[in-house]
Amino acid sequence: MCRAPHPGPPLLFDELRRLFSISAMAAQLSEVDTLVQRILEAGDIESLDHTAIPRIRTPERLAVFSVRAARLRQLAALGNPIAGYLRLMAVLADAQQAVMTGFKAQPPSADSIASAQQHSMPLIPALSGVRDPAWHDVLLQLVDKVQAAGPLTPPLEALFVRLRTLDIAALEAQADAIFAQRFDEVDPASAPFIMAALQVVWTDLAADIDKREVPYIETLGLCPVCGSHPVASTVRVGGAYDNYRYLQCGLCATEWHMVRSKCSNCDSTKGIAYHAVGAQDADEATREADSRNAALKAESCDECHTYRKIGIQSKDYDFEPFADDLASLTLDLLMGAEGYLRASPHPWLWPEQTGTAAESSGEFD
Ligand SMILES: [Zn+2]
Ligand SMILES: [Zn+2]
Repeated sequence: MCRAPHPGPPLLFDELRRLFSISAMAAQLSEVDTLVQRILEAGDIESLDHTAIPRIRTPERLAVFSVRAARLRQLAALGNPIAGYLRLMAVLADAQQAVMTGFKAQPPSADSIASAQQHSMPLIPALSGVRDPAWHDVLLQLVDKVQAAGPLTPPLEALFVRLRTLDIAALEAQADAIFAQRFDEVDPASAPFIMAALQVVWTDLAADIDKREVPYIETLGLCPVCGSHPVASTVRVGGAYDNYRYLQCGLCATEWHMVRSKCSNCDSTKGIAYHAVGAQDADEATREADSRNAALKAESCDECHTYRKIGIQSKDYDFEPFADDLASLTLDLLMGAEGYLRASPHPWLWPEQTGTAAESSGEFD
């Protein structure tokens, strides 16, 4: 089953260019290239004993967002072209962690759990249109906390004024458009903050789920807890998860196992390749070694012409799918240049629609 990739440019790059200091991006791009590794790890797929693999990793309530915040700051400090944006988003992730500490969402009823299991549907589906209205107040708390953390640029001040005055119908309409990925209805400037509030609600629910209750759903590439798209995947190290690949949900932060060398968008095992950012002028042997050793790669599929990123934790233990995906815009631009589309947008970086982009966002130094 192939889901349609999102249209247009992979990211709101023009919007970011206006709002953040990323003029260095062009210079950086002229010095890098993607390294392609076409290695099908067929043995990896066939040798797995599926009964022994933990299927689900639920988010850690006390750490999920603070780990992201720390990783975003770490990546921002490495000369990242969108460092200002990453620091702003680190403040937002800290705010999510603080809000979740005093928050409890309305859990699913026993009847709805039984119904989801019976029909092999996600346990707490984002797209059902039924959501805990507590997310409106969570959004206000997040905005307050980001505002209190430091001076904001005038565009970000204006955006927060707008977010505080949106009525419930407008907020719910944005949430519907975000979940359904109706890009022409999503406001790219406010979407990261609305998404952040919804993430607090769903992550709170996911953290309390009994993993044995999570249904086996038919669409391998969607979250079995909430039905949302994954943001990226990790080949983990340690314990029962060692050397297995997990997709991380962009909404509820649940991770679920998927064999490696398989497209998370269309389930194909054909035409899978791995791309990493490397130096353009290196010789062939160096490029091959760099590609093999890269901690972060894009996994592309020639069946559906999309990609998602994958992090190898044995090469970078601090890899965090949500943060690392957001911070690797260079790899996105290079994948775009190679003709691949993101399988789904990053939940905090929405594609800009021509002529509709809001002029209001900001940075955080
Ligand atoms: Zn989910
Ligand atoms: Zn595919």
